[in-house]
Amino acid sequence: MDSIQVYDSTKFLHVNDISITDETKQLLEEASKVYWQNFNGKTWYGRCIFISWYCALGDCTFCFRSTNQHKEMHPATSRRSMASILIEALFSRIFGWRIEFVTGGYGVMPFSDLLKIIKNVSIVYGEKVWLNLGAIPPSRLAELRPYIKGIYGSLETVTPGLHEHVCPSKPLAPYEKMFADLDPELKRSICIIVGLGDTLDDLKYLFDFIEKYRIDRVTLYALKPVRGTEYTAGPTSDFYLQWIARLRIRFPKLQIVAGTNLRRCEEIGYVMKAGTNAVTKFPATKQFGTQKAHLVDKLIREQGRTFISNITALPDLDWNAEIDALQIDDKYKLEMKEKIVPYLNRFRNPKDKDSAFWDEE
Ligand code: SF4
Repeated sequence: MDSIQVYDSTKFLHVNDISITDETKQLLEEASKVYWQNFNGKTWYGRCIFISWYCALGDCTFCFRSTNQHKEMHPATSRRSMASILIEALFSRIFGWRIEFVTGGYGVMPFSDLLKIIKNVSIVYGEKVWLNLGAIPPSRLAELRPYIKGIYGSLETVTPGLHEHVCPSKPLAPYEKMFADLDPELKRSICIIVGLGDTLDDLKYLFDFIEKYRIDRVTLYALKPVRGTEYTAGPTSDFYLQWIARLRIRFPKLQIVAGTNLRRCEEIGYVMKAGTNAVTKFPATKQFGTQKAHLVDKLIREQGRTFISNITALPDLDWNAEIDALQIDDKYKLEMKEKIVPYLNRFRNPKDKDSAFWDEE
């Protein structure tokens, strides 16, 4: 199989709809074996924290930011407030979500503002964080260093020719230089999207990149097509699973994070079999405590995994006291206390979006 298969990403995928080939079944078995030889089953939900919805490049062909709708946005109005960013950092600590990275597109704000955000996020989260903010020059990295443990490059694809087509204003060279010169104490990671046009054969370019730049972690996403872009379909479960499994088999100790989304999250049990360490992009704040979230939790545990993140049960906490205890400016605490209310109301009244669960409510 060397072509890209597609599935209709406007529909909810259910466990019973998933069909995989015998070849993929075998790969999953092998990948699962490799996973258990190298890891202990600890599995987490990774949370990306966005500091803005704007990107000054805005021309990657698959991205929402390349659509006309985004082009009408303005950098200043698409910045998130410090308080809403910090609420996500607080949830991440309390619910055992791992901050996958802090991100927010290019050219959004002065560096001093960015530094302040990263510092506050790491204080609230209680740990250093990973950053995904483009190819960062060494002088800036030195200033960020006290608050960061790793650097991401959102490369999307490293296949020659395809990368230039998909990301016309985001060449690979500055990332290659950043990774080549990176402080060896900092972890290195890349994001790759499955379904942009790469074939299984093109995995060789990804394998070479991981080896050459000694990448510690890879986050794979299944393309979620955005209306207004050239892409109209995402990869099938079978194709996506082949990528994860082949990556696991080729790099037994690599940390692999697999992206999902609300519509395709029922493939998560298979994603575990393929040897991933974590999942990301499940809309945990919008779907916290829903039946879908319970199902995701169950599908992960059914694979013998210890799921260390909470997406289902709201703890009985004094949230204002949690906010008061943070070592951040009082003005952010006040704002956080206001902004957290609608989140908590939603967590207490979970509403499934997938109509397959409606009759049971
Ligand atoms: S750099 Fe990232 S945010 Fe900007 S257009 Fe490309 S994919 Fe989208």
